[in-house]
Amino acid sequence: MELRVLGGAREVGRSAILVDDSLLLDFGLLTAEPPQYPVATPTPDAVVVSHGHLDHVGAIPSLLSGSNRPSIHWTPPTRELALTLARDTLKLHGHSPHCPFTENDVKRVTEVSETHGYRESFAAAGYEVTFYNAGHIPGSAHVLVDDGETRLLYTGDFHVDETAAADPPAGFDAGEPPIGQRLVAGSTARPDADVVLCESTYSDVDHEPRAAVEHRFAQSVKTTLWEGGTVVVPAFAIGRTQELLLICEQHDIPCYVDGMGKRVTEMLRQYPEYVRDADALRRAKSHARFVTGRDGQRKRIADQPAAIVTTSGMLSGGPAMTYIPEIRANPVNKVTLTGYQVEGTPGRELLETGRAEIDGRVMPVSAGVEGYDFSAHADHDGLRRVLDAYDDAEILVNHGDRCGAFAAELREDGYDASAPELGATYSV
Ligand SMILES: [Zn+2]
Repeated sequence: MELRVLGGAREVGRSAILVDDSLLLDFGLLTAEPPQYPVATPTPDAVVVSHGHLDHVGAIPSLLSGSNRPSIHWTPPTRELALTLARDTLKLHGHSPHCPFTENDVKRVTEVSETHGYRESFAAAGYEVTFYNAGHIPGSAHVLVDDGETRLLYTGDFHVDETAAADPPAGFDAGEPPIGQRLVAGSTARPDADVVLCESTYSDVDHEPRAAVEHRFAQSVKTTLWEGGTVVVPAFAIGRTQELLLICEQHDIPCYVDGMGKRVTEMLRQYPEYVRDADALRRAKSHARFVTGRDGQRKRIADQPAAIVTTSGMLSGGPAMTYIPEIRANPVNKVTLTGYQVEGTPGRELLETGRAEIDGRVMPVSAGVEGYDFSAHADHDGLRRVLDAYDDAEILVNHGDRCGAFAAELREDGYDASAPELGATYSV
C-alpha cells in the first residue's frame, strides 16, 4: 500500500491522504486568507470521508469539477454537514477566483454520494472499508481500509471519554457524567490494523477533566446573569454549538442560539443514533431560543440576562460580530470563548489583549473575557490510551503542530512511529 499525504502533514487543516493513487481519504480546506487546498488535486476512483468539518471535507466538490466522477462514501450526518459547508463556502466565496468549485459541482456530489453506518463494511475502489465511531462530532469515523494484505486505520479526528480515575472536582463523584462530551460518546473501537495514521492535535496537552470545565463555565455564566449581565458564547456551528446547548440545559442557563449552529442543531435531531443521548439533545433544543435576527432582535437580546451561543467560534464572522459591539462596554457582561483560538484570529487577539477587530474596527472590550477548553480531540493521555492497542503497528502521526515530537516520543517508547512530510509518498 502506498500513501501520499496531500495535506494535514505536520499541520492542522486541509487533510487529504491518497492511497495507491486510487482511494482518497478526506479532502479538506485550511481556513486562511485566501483559503489553502491540499497540495495536489488527484483523480481517485473513490473518496472516503472521516467527518464533516471544513478541514476534512471543505474541498470535496472540486474533485467533481472535471470529468472524473469518484463515488463518495461517508456516514449520513457527514454527508449533510459536507453539503451544508459547501453551500456556505459558495455563499461566502462563490464570486471569488479562490473558490475551487461551483454550484454544479456541489450538485454532482449528491449524485455520487453513498452513505454507510458504523461497522457496515463496504467496497470502495477495490478496498474493503469500515467506519467506527470516532467520538469527535456526530457521524465522525475512524476509517479502516483493507486491501487484502495491509489494514490501514485512519483515525480521523477523535475523542475518548475520560477514565474513571480522573480526579473529580468538588461537587462531582468519580465516574459521574460528564466524563466526555455530552453530544457524542467517545471512541471505543480498536479494530486490528497494521498501519495507523493518527491525528495528534493535542499531543502536548492534558485536558482539564470535563466536569471541572463545565462546572467553572456554568458558575461563571450564572454569576454574570445574576448580576444582570449578558454572556456571548462564541462557538463553532458543528458540534460545539450543540455541546453548549446541552450544557446550558443541564445547568438551567437561559440561552439563545444564533448563526449556522441553528441549522446544524435542527439537522442533527434527524440522526438520533449518531448522538450520545437523543433525548437530551431534544431537551437542549427546546430549552434554547432560536434567534431569527429580524427587526433588531439581536440588539434587544444583547440587553437580556441570558447566554447567547453563536458563531463564529473565533469571532471571525457570523452574528457574534453584532453581539460583541453591543455588549462590550459594560464590565458586567462577558465573552466566554469555548475552544482553541488560532493565532491571528480576533478571538485570540481578544483573549490576549482585551481588544478585538470587528468589521475592520479595533474595539476595546470592557466586558470580561474567558476561555474554556471544550475540546473534541483526544489529549495526550487519550492518544496514548488509543495507541496502546497498536504497539505492533506502524504509526504515522499527522494532523498536529508537533507531529515530529510526538512520533519521537512514541519511538522512545518502542513504537515504529514517524511523521510524514507534506506531499511525500510512503510504502507501508
Ligand atoms: Zn474535526
